[in-house]
Amino acid sequence: MSDTDIETVTADFNSRFGRSPAGVWAAPGRVNLIGEHTDYNDGFVMPYALPHRVTIAAEQRSDDTWTVTSLNNNDTQTFTRSELVPGMKGWQAYVAGVVWALAEAGHTVAGADLVLTSDVPVGAGLSSSAALECATLTALADLNELEIAPLERAKLARRCENDFVGAPTGLMDQAASTMCTSANALFLDCRTFGADQVPLDLAGEGLEMLVLDTRTPHALVDSEYATRRSSCEQAAQILGVAALRDVDDLDAALQQLDDDEMRRRVRHVVSENARVLEAVEVLQSGRFRELAPLLDASHQSMRDDFEITVPTVDLAVESARQAGALGARMTGGGFGGCIIALVEGGRSAAVAQHITDRFAEAGFDQPSHFVALPSPGARRLV
Ligand code: ADP
Ligand code: MG
Repeated sequence: MSDTDIETVTADFNSRFGRSPAGVWAAPGRVNLIGEHTDYNDGFVMPYALPHRVTIAAEQRSDDTWTVTSLNNNDTQTFTRSELVPGMKGWQAYVAGVVWALAEAGHTVAGADLVLTSDVPVGAGLSSSAALECATLTALADLNELEIAPLERAKLARRCENDFVGAPTGLMDQAASTMCTSANALFLDCRTFGADQVPLDLAGEGLEMLVLDTRTPHALVDSEYATRRSSCEQAAQILGVAALRDVDDLDAALQQLDDDEMRRRVRHVVSENARVLEAVEVLQSGRFRELAPLLDASHQSMRDDFEITVPTVDLAVESARQAGALGARMTGGGFGGCIIALVEGGRSAAVAQHITDRFAEAGFDQPSHFVALPSPGARRLV
């Protein structure tokens, strides 16, 4: 985005408090390039940061009170230290939970006034929640002069989401938001939390990534997620491995399983991990266009083996390919959400239009879309 968000939060802070903020901080949302449902199998993921971000103007206070204003929902919330109790309701829990997680980790955090705005779509699977947590964390860490390494920041933000808000998620979203760098994707090993920057200079390669939100309501997502997860855990137990990440010989593993559905679940996770590793290799050796068949294969695997796609998502991917996208896949946990399509530079609008036309023919709601270059992670802006 342009830097109008900086002016917006600064102007609001000024008029609200009659003084300038101490600074302005931002943290991005993310898309996952490849590696779906691999995280809880101790496997590999590769997100990159969106240009869309949560931007916060902030200044310390002299008491144990935090005020936070979201210019998106035009709401101001206030909480004190004694109110920092896990399970807090409302959107401000994503902010309060960061103060709580910092305090739990032994950091001293003074009260503060925060004003924020965001252009990360909410509830589309692009991690507006992690962007909010990580922007808050970055602002508070700076204001309180806390030395916290990037991976540690991601873990604290995750702690907020898991233990304070109460949403069971892996580390990918927060790691992407804190650790991503411009023109790179982040290869993350979800067992060791080892992380590597992988070149994804789409612009330099004459490529674009179209992100299209199918706007499908996420029905059934929690229960379906739980059954996929337990199926993977059961399979790992039968195969005698700590997690499906440890399956080296897929054919041998499949022969040990009687249940067809479980076999397909395992095939998805094991092949998806292999695709992430292959994606790292093709990107590191500059063969960017070879990413495309990996995106296609990932989608097929999610559709046929893991069965987490829905008709809107499948139509979006199929239409993207029809309109000349080099490769396309659903991104995110499934049952709706977004697709990504790798397209030649300048082709995004035409591809998006074709998908939109096919959605109209099928009687689906109109999708929304944007083009997203890999962008920087959380940082101070001013
Ligand atoms: P996602 O992370 O996929 O966008 P989540 O359900 O995990 O969806 O998080 C969305 C929630 O995060 C919102 O319901 C709201 O509580 C909070 N949130 C995100 N961005 C903002 C914002 N700009 N202002 C206020 N609350 C926000
Ligand atoms: Mg979220």
